[in-house]
Amino acid sequence: MKIGVLALQGDFDAHRRRLEELGAEVVLVKKPEQLDAIDGLIIPGGESGTFLKLLGEDGLAKLKDFVRVKPTFGTCAGCILLAAEVENPKQTGLGALDITVRRNAYGRQIDSSIREGRFLGEPVEMVFIRAPKIERTGKDVEVIATEGSGEDMVPVLVRKGNTLAATFHPELSDDRRIHQYFLDLVENWKRSRE
Ligand code: GLN
Repeated sequence: MKIGVLALQGDFDAHRRRLEELGAEVVLVKKPEQLDAIDGLIIPGGESGTFLKLLGEDGLAKLKDFVRVKPTFGTCAGCILLAAEVENPKQTGLGALDITVRRNAYGRQIDSSIREGRFLGEPVEMVFIRAPKIERTGKDVEVIATEGSGEDMVPVLVRKGNTLAATFHPELSDDRRIHQYFLDLVENWKRSRE
């Protein structure tokens, strides 16, 4: 299985390592043509505004086509890029997931934190870095992981079909379950096309 990691900027190398640990072949994607040769893509954390600048209009259009067809996992800035609606400030993106995200939603004082959330009902460590918050999920969007409890519970990993987005950084924890979940998605997608 060939998985691309968008390597324009940001936190791509930790994703590469994790995917390789799990047996995937990794392509560091720097040019739009490379998208044709991969089965799935991770859009890593970083600065979503910078990603948009570096991608340019053509890169963004090519990425939009990719996401429509092939499994894609956006983490943190990658989640912001996939969202249909972005606040604080408003920003365009791929519009692939019907969610509203608020950038840098946890304030300056808690720029980053490690918290325990729940992934498919199981406890899991989550690393948040200048994280966005998913404030709204559309009706077809499934919540796979949450953080917090009671009224403060928020979705932190969501999915629609083959598009997955997390507001935290699973590549920075030792736990491999989230990346394995994405690889299973890619595998099932591949199998369904054979
Ligand atoms: N704050 C960044 C943004 O708004 C995301 C942070 C991250 O990817 N760790 O794009």
